[in-house]
Amino acid sequence: MQLNGKIALVTGASRGIGRAIAIGLAKAGAQVLCTSTKQDGCDDTLLQISAAGMSSSALMCDISNAAQVEQLAKTVLDQHGRLDILVNNAGITRDGLFLRMSAEDYDAVLATNLRGPFLVCKAFSRSMAKARGGRIINIGSVVGLTGNAGQANYAASKAGLIGLTKSLAQEFAGRGITANVIAPGFITTDMTTAIPEGIQKTMLEMIPLARFGKPEDVANAVVFLSSDAAGYITGQTLVVDGGMTM
Ligand code: NDP
Repeated sequence: MQLNGKIALVTGASRGIGRAIAIGLAKAGAQVLCTSTKQDGCDDTLLQISAAGMSSSALMCDISNAAQVEQLAKTVLDQHGRLDILVNNAGITRDGLFLRMSAEDYDAVLATNLRGPFLVCKAFSRSMAKARGGRIINIGSVVGLTGNAGQANYAASKAGLIGLTKSLAQEFAGRGITANVIAPGFITTDMTTAIPEGIQKTMLEMIPLARFGKPEDVANAVVFLSSDAAGYITGQTLVVDGGMTM
């Protein structure tokens, strides 16, 4: 699955799944643009990509901020002329039981996890449509399919992302753009190491493949969906969860 000559952008590439996706795409030959909300947030990611003999660059962008997203798209399109692969990976959690969940925590999660991908897709889809090709890959979650106690905001955002993605898949199919969701299960990153050990143990027992996922497990699926091999796949949700939710 070669991506030589492709330009790819990964939001939230400073750590965890986003970093693994950026490295995976770079190893497949793509030139990767990494974003984070911090100026030097992606430094380690860039180092790991250059250690693998590939080049990449970093851009700062809070995806919940429309002006920053517009500036990001302007910079990318001015510098590279196009974007071939867009991976909306950045996401946050603000967990809490529903009766205690504040509207602020609900809005914050929706702003990053659902409005963010909307803004980023909007900023790049016109140029993809003009180029008559492109790949949009949105990182959802299995809880967008199943719901999850304590994550009403997060589950709503990820379920919404599936609806957004299917709509984009339909609107842009005629322009050669595919749009898919990858829904990871439990992947070991900063986001999940905060989960209490007892709950982690219970979750592990629910995974037929008997291990938590690695960020690379998600990255491999992104590389596949970015490749020519996945050219006939659109509007789908690919679950990467070791069989947890089957
Ligand atoms: P991490 O918390 O480890 O990393 C989150 C990334 O998102 C960071 O790079 C962070 O960048 C970035 N980010 C957060 N808010 C914003 C924002 N407003 N604008 C731009 N970037 C932002 O998370 P994971 O790697 O675990 O998760 C990545 C994605 O995978 C998320 O969408 C998550 O919902 C999803 N996912 C994760 C699962 C897991 O088990 N880990 C399971 C299912 C889905 P920085 O802070 O440097 O700005």
